[in-house]
Formats: sequence, structure tokens, C-alpha cells
Amino acid sequence: MALTPLGDARARVLHDCHRLESARVPLDDAVGCVTTEAVVADELVPPFANTAMDGVAVRAADTAGATADAPVRLRLVGTIAAGDPGDIEVGPGTAVRIMTGAPMPPGADAVVMVERTAPAEGAVDVMVEVAVGNHVRAAGDDLRPGDPVVAAGTELTPAHLGVLAGLGHLDVAVVRRARVAVLSTGDELVEGPGPLLPGQIRDSNRRTLTALVRETGAEAVDLGIVADHPDRIAAALREAVATCDAVVTSGGVSMGEFDHVKVVLDTIGEMEWMQVAIKPAKPLAFGTVEGVPVFGLPGNPVSSMVSFELFARPGLRRMMGHESSGRMVVDAVADEGLHRQIDGKTHFARVVAAWGDDGRFHVRSAGGQGSHQLSAMAAANALAVVPDGHGVPPGGAVEVILLGPLG
Ligand code: AMP
Ligand code: MG
Repeated sequence: MALTPLGDARARVLHDCHRLESARVPLDDAVGCVTTEAVVADELVPPFANTAMDGVAVRAADTAGATADAPVRLRLVGTIAAGDPGDIEVGPGTAVRIMTGAPMPPGADAVVMVERTAPAEGAVDVMVEVAVGNHVRAAGDDLRPGDPVVAAGTELTPAHLGVLAGLGHLDVAVVRRARVAVLSTGDELVEGPGPLLPGQIRDSNRRTLTALVRETGAEAVDLGIVADHPDRIAAALREAVATCDAVVTSGGVSMGEFDHVKVVLDTIGEMEWMQVAIKPAKPLAFGTVEGVPVFGLPGNPVSSMVSFELFARPGLRRMMGHESSGRMVVDAVADEGLHRQIDGKTHFARVVAAWGDDGRFHVRSAGGQGSHQLSAMAAANALAVVPDGHGVPPGGAVEVILLGPLG
């Protein structure tokens, strides 16, 4: 069977991953979502002129010539805290004690920070000359009515949510999060700490894949372990597509006699079984059942994660309105050789990437590169893209997909 180029396989997947509808969601559930409407400011932020410092509100002209040696004494006529209306008139020769965020009182046009004042009996000594507007934040200094706040198509960050909340919004229109079913297939799989019977292993894929689904911003629905039986697999997939926007399975898509996932998918849906020109994660069964995308990922733990990264992540993100996979791809230096043989495939080596003093990324192997060696995947924070050939020599350049924080 001819190998499918990675780009072709990904295009095939993305073709069936359609953008979900827009929904208004509470700000609290919107981080990472993509907006479907532009938001424009409809009020001033800040809403009134206020002080940026704790100190005294004054008439700047009254501070003319003030120094630490020759302070100007101003009569105190009140105190304004944040939250007070601030309607204490500051006349010539007077001052009002004022706290950060409190409104500027009428008559005052500047603030002297508390560190440049000294208390006096019913008065304050000002030890510095200040200009009009000193430490005053004008109304609308941040936003004015009509200012664009977020464009449609923006991936919302915590700061965006703060800006929206600052304008009084409680919710925002975004592409809704996908509900994604996750299930493991395999008669050998068990869960939890109990003793293993001969031939059994513990299910690890469901935990990694569920977490990866959530990392894309989608909601994960755990459908458990399904036995290697066509009827069981068909029933699980039918249930999944009836309640979810996408399905991620692992196992049962290789050449083995009991690899039923690809067979069932072909029977109950439209499926393409691909041998993608990559290592790990060569087999991929991708299709739709009732129009719902199903990602039939391979069972080997590293393969299922790499396959998720290369296919499911871009697909799910596209469904949620994102234009890219959201992973940073950078050029790096291989501090040690990344060895391989010619086999017609692109290899994705599990590596540890770090930023070097020379202003470049550097990578080294994260450990065993077998597709069952999940511990090396756990130690890695990047995948090095090693093109077909004899590998990358020590000191050679290599493209790297960053998966997580740099060490
Ligand atoms: P398969 O793709 O079903 O042929 O499985 C390939 C390999 O991955 C086999 O060694 C399986 O035992 C293993 N495997 C399959 N599913 C899981 C899982 N959920 N967790 C850990 N290993 C798995
Ligand atoms: Mg299996």
C-alpha cells in the first residue's frame, strides 16, 4: 500500500472538519475561544479621571517652587478613597488626601504622591512642584466609545476577557467548544491499580488523549474501553456520534486480524484508511459517521499522541474556528545526532528543546524512540521533524514542533 504524504493526509482530515456554530458563552468559559463578532467599546475606560497614586490632590499652581527644603503648606479639606464619589471641592491653598483609583475632586488638577509630602497639623507639606495632570489618569485613557476591542476571529486571552469585563460584558459570541468523545479499543486493556492478568496492560491512551482534547480547548467525553469486537465498536461509535461533535479512538487501525476499528468505520461511515509517510503513527483511519469526524488513531501510546498532534489537534481546532494548529514551529540545532534510516517517511523524534545562550533553540533526544516508549514522550517538550534520509548530524539544523514549556 502506497504511503500517503503527511500534507495530503492532513488535507483529507481538515476537509471534513467544519467550523461549529457560534454561541454566546460566559466570559468565564471563553478563554482560548475564537470570537465570531467584533466588540467595540461603548463607554469610557476609565469612566472618570482618577489618581494613579496614593497622595494628595492639589491645584498644580499651588505647588510652584515647592522643594523638600522649602515645602508648600496646603490646608487639608478631606479624604477620598477608591469608591467614594469624590465631590470635595479643592480650592486655592487646599488639598485632599486621595487613594489610588479614587476620582479626582473638582478643582484639583494634579496629584502629589504621598512619598513627596509630610503631614502637618490639619494640613500637608508638599515637597515637590508638580505639573497639571501629574499622576492623573484621564477618563477614556484606555478606551473611548467606538474603539475596537476585539475583532471577529480573535482567540481570546485572559487580557481580552478583562477588557470585556471592564466594559460590563458578561458573555461573548464565540465558536462553541467541540464535544469530543474519547475511547480506547483493545481486549488487553484494563484500568487502575489492580493486578494484571497474563496478557493484560493498563490503558494509558485514554488519559493522554482526553488531556490532549482538553488542551485544544474542546470538552472531552470519556467513553471508556471498548473490546475488540465489531459490534461493540460499532455501538460505541454510534453512541459517540449521536452525542458528540468528533470522536477520537485509539487502537485497532493496523494490519492485525483483530484491528476492527477501521473495518467498522468503513461499514458504518465514510472512512479512509491511510498509511501516512510518518514514523511513528503510520496507520490512520479517518472518516465520518453521520457527518461526525472520527479520528481512528493507532494504539501504540507514542503513535496515538503524535497522530493526535498531527491530525486531531489541527482538525479539532479548525472546528473551533482556529486557523492554525497553534503550535510553534522553530529552527533548532541538534546538540547530538538524530539518527535514522531511509524509509520514505518523515520521522518525529521526541526531543527536549531549550533556548541557548547563542540565541538559538537546541535539542537533544528525550530518550527511547520506540512508539511504545511513552516515558520519553513524557520527558520531551518538542518533536524534531527529521526528513527522510540519514538523519541530522551533531550540530546540524532541524525543524522542531514545540509541544510545551521550555525547560
Ligand atoms: P493496536 O493499534 O490496537 O494494534 O495496538 C498497538 C499497540 O498499542 C499494542 O501493543 C497495544 O497493546 C497498545 N495499546 C493499544 N491501546 C492502548 C492503550 N489504550 N493504552 C496503552 N497501550 C495501548
Ligand atoms: Mg488493538
